[in-house]
Amino acid sequence: DFITLDTLVRNTAQAHPDRIAVIDGERQLRYAEFDALIDRVAAALQRDGVQPTDAISICALSSLEYVATFLGALRAGVAVAPLAPSSTAQDFAAMVKDASAKVLFTDDFAADAMKAAAIDPGIRRVALDGGASGAAFADWIAAADQKPTPLAIDPEWVFNIIYSSGTTGTPKGIVHTHYLRWRQYGQLDPLGYGPDAVTLLSTPLYSNTTLVCFNPTLAGGGTLVLMKKFDAKGFLDLAQKHRVTHAMLVPVQYRRIMALPEFGDYDLSSFVGKFCTSAPFAAELKRDILARWPGGLTEYYGMTEGGGSCALLAHEHPDKLATVGQPMPDHEIRLIDEAGNFVAQGEIGEIVGRSAVMMQGYLNQPQKTAETFWTDKDGNRWVRTGDIGRFDEDGFLTLMDRKKDMIISGGFNIYPSDIEAIASQHPDVLEVAVVGMPSEDWGETPVAFAVPRPGAALDPADLRAWTNAKVGKTQRLSDVTLVETLPRSAIGKVLKRELRDQRLAAAG
Ligand code: ATP
Ligand code: MG
Repeated sequence: DFITLDTLVRNTAQAHPDRIAVIDGERQLRYAEFDALIDRVAAALQRDGVQPTDAISICALSSLEYVATFLGALRAGVAVAPLAPSSTAQDFAAMVKDASAKVLFTDDFAADAMKAAAIDPGIRRVALDGGASGAAFADWIAAADQKPTPLAIDPEWVFNIIYSSGTTGTPKGIVHTHYLRWRQYGQLDPLGYGPDAVTLLSTPLYSNTTLVCFNPTLAGGGTLVLMKKFDAKGFLDLAQKHRVTHAMLVPVQYRRIMALPEFGDYDLSSFVGKFCTSAPFAAELKRDILARWPGGLTEYYGMTEGGGSCALLAHEHPDKLATVGQPMPDHEIRLIDEAGNFVAQGEIGEIVGRSAVMMQGYLNQPQKTAETFWTDKDGNRWVRTGDIGRFDEDGFLTLMDRKKDMIISGGFNIYPSDIEAIASQHPDVLEVAVVGMPSEDWGETPVAFAVPRPGAALDPADLRAWTNAKVGKTQRLSDVTLVETLPRSAIGKVLKRELRDQRLAAAG
């Protein structure tokens, strides 16, 4: 039966008041204290006249107050639109306006970044860290009742407005209902998050990537450990100190951790499940993690819009590490061609997915919403992912590339990921991204941006020749450029559109 996350937290608070709910540096909240704080936030929102289904925005680094505000809003039936503190001023202003946020919760870190944003000065601001960015959180709740007026949440009300990563363009506000969130509480746990779960969150709370672990941990009565800013050593220190059992990390974080010379000195035997999602996760990296880091490893493929999600239980399928696994229970995934027909088994197509957990739509964007939902001949509604993939004979999905990143050269479809997989095996290459650049002869031609391994003397001409000797004729690189780092979004996705833009600008 439908139940909200804050009710599950309350149940834990009643049964196990002293169990620890959230750890933030030296501070921590027990379930009873956490539940009381959630009550206060809900009461303060009600006092301020924020109505059920109204929205608030939170733009801050992870903290106890952030988590309590998130659940307090839920208890008051208020929708939460979390924002990335790393956004541009322009995006901030657009997102706050788009979400019609009634209250904006910030901290010093985010306020600094938001200074240049043209945000309606009439919007109430609350500083979660008690800093100068608004009324101090402690004062804001101190003036509220201890208990909010109880409220029955309608599962169809909007709970989350999550802005997409903006990897391919301007972030879109993805609307999730309470029903959708509820469906996720227990679902994403192939290895289980019981009351003993201690989950280390080192990705930002505004991202669905984080919520995939956040929700089930609290739903199961476990403990969240918050990390405000990731660094590989800091992560391992926290993991060891708190005997962490679960963690969600994006591929670039795994790569940094596995590259630490002192990795082997840490006791990570407490780990039960590790998770990864959001960007291509190289098979060799998965293999290395399985070999050296105790506990299971699950990769998720999916999108904030919901619909089709896949999971690869890497520890159970070491022979399938080049795939993103199989559709999750109650999720259906198919592939379609340009004409909107399902492709035959083994063929390549755009991934479409459907399940009970799909977004309501994009906020204020009926046109984009209509483009994203696709209806088959039987009238079933699917989410179009914009990703290209292929199923193997065992039903495991191999992800190729985003449709927008596919290169069409001389009439051939080229998948940058195929070339990246080869070029990244060069001994002097740390990482590499391949994008299509306009070409008079071919329409588009693949070019690579490569980051050398520290201390290695990588010669771009050598890497080009080395790679071209191994790839198909149409996939040959027309150029290799060395770069210090690849441009990434805050959640760690390579921003290929930036690479293309930089390259076009350099070419004049
Ligand atoms: P935007 O829609 O604004 O361009 P985004 O698509 O990156 O941003 P998200 O919803 O956070 O926003 O990410 C979903 C996308 O991330 C998927 O469509 C897919 O391209 C990529 N992705 C998700 N999981 C994986 C994975 N396991 N491996 C590779 N790519 C993944
Ligand atoms: Mg997307």
